[in-house]
Amino acid sequence: MKNVIQRAVPLAPLTSFELGGPAEYFLRAESERDVVAGLRWAKRRGVPVRILGGGSNLVIPDEGVGGLVVQMATRGRELKMDGDLAELTVAAGESWDPLVAWLTGQDLVGFECLSGIPGSVGATPIQNVGAYGHEVADSLIWVRVLDRETLEDRLLTSRDCDFGYRDSRFKRDLDRFVVLSVRFALRRGAVPEIRYAELERAVAERAETKRTEGSAPTASEVREIVIGLRKRKSMVFDPDDENRRCAGSFFTNPIIEAADADRVVRDAVERGLVSAPSEVPRYAAGDGKSKLAAGWLIERAGLCKGTRRGAFGISSKHALALVHHGGGQTRDLMAFAEEVQGAVRERFGVELHREPTLWA
Ligand SMILES: Cc1cc2nc3c(=O)[nH]c(=O)nc-3n(C[C@H](O)[C@H](O)[C@H](O)COP(=O)(O)OP(=O)(O)OC[C@H]3O[C@@H](n4cnc5c(N)ncnc54)[C@H](O)[C@@H]3O)c2cc1C
Repeated sequence: MKNVIQRAVPLAPLTSFELGGPAEYFLRAESERDVVAGLRWAKRRGVPVRILGGGSNLVIPDEGVGGLVVQMATRGRELKMDGDLAELTVAAGESWDPLVAWLTGQDLVGFECLSGIPGSVGATPIQNVGAYGHEVADSLIWVRVLDRETLEDRLLTSRDCDFGYRDSRFKRDLDRFVVLSVRFALRRGAVPEIRYAELERAVAERAETKRTEGSAPTASEVREIVIGLRKRKSMVFDPDDENRRCAGSFFTNPIIEAADADRVVRDAVERGLVSAPSEVPRYAAGDGKSKLAAGWLIERAGLCKGTRRGAFGISSKHALALVHHGGGQTRDLMAFAEEVQGAVRERFGVELHREPTLWA
């Protein structure tokens, strides 16, 4: 093994929340061989293994975690062109957003709407990373994984991954596989597909300002617009931003039976929270279900942007992001998350589910 296993390594600086205790054992894996060696080492000692990417979707308990944490630091990108079609294979430890910048810079279309998201490539299939109407599942061909039981690698197709909204078979069974690399399909020079109303408006505004109405934006232009929108919500990491210590959205948007969504809308009108049903953000989610906006529910349950509880609070720019203001403890973050869930449950009878993984 190239890198040695260290003891008692603090995890807080390796996560975007900057919270939690140390890893009992820690390995920075710069090669796939390191990953396998780490898993073998842990197996021999009978200790659990956890996989760390960029730490941007993780909550670490105050007492830290027992066993081995393997930080994915593998590198490598391979781009193969066949006419305008691109097949891109990327190692799990590569950072996502620099990859997107590199691709959009070459007019490779597919990930421009997923610009500005922190973290590693290997974590993107875990929760099927998504934003502005796109998800990695839209472009994913396969994921190469290491089966943690057999220590053999396997290719899982997009269908095998059983992707859903911020969900996949990986997220449902975190102890089964390590993602080693991912292959994506992209297209050079294609017209970026804009599927999200807010982004559509921003693209149209820019075209008006630049007097380029009628001509489609390039992937780089869409990237720039998406990053602009995300910055306004503190959804791009910025060391000077008061909302920087977060994991992006702390809750997923709830997908509920359409009849339950009807009830939420009726209640909101009756209680005077909105003047018309159409003011409640609601989207069809297939199978007779509706998706509600968790941020809207949180604010209408009385927890507005900028709410503070000691070292924690709701982002001043985005109601769905819980923020650590420094000097706090994970147990207080979790208590605040429960308060938010409780307020939404009480006001609307809707359950909010946590998006980041808690290493309990
Ligand atoms: C400011 C901000 C904005 C964000 N915006 C978005 C957004 O728009 N959309 C979105 O979907 N997410 C968003 N996120 C959440 C997060 O960036 C993504 O989920 C990202 O993919 C997490 O990557 P990571 O490498 O940091 O994963 P980590 O936080 O390190 O890990 C997350 C989970 O994945 C597992 N994991 C990581 N790598 C591997 C691997 N190679 N193999 C197996 N398991 C692995 C970990 O064990 C853990 O369970 C945002 C976060 C922040 C801080």
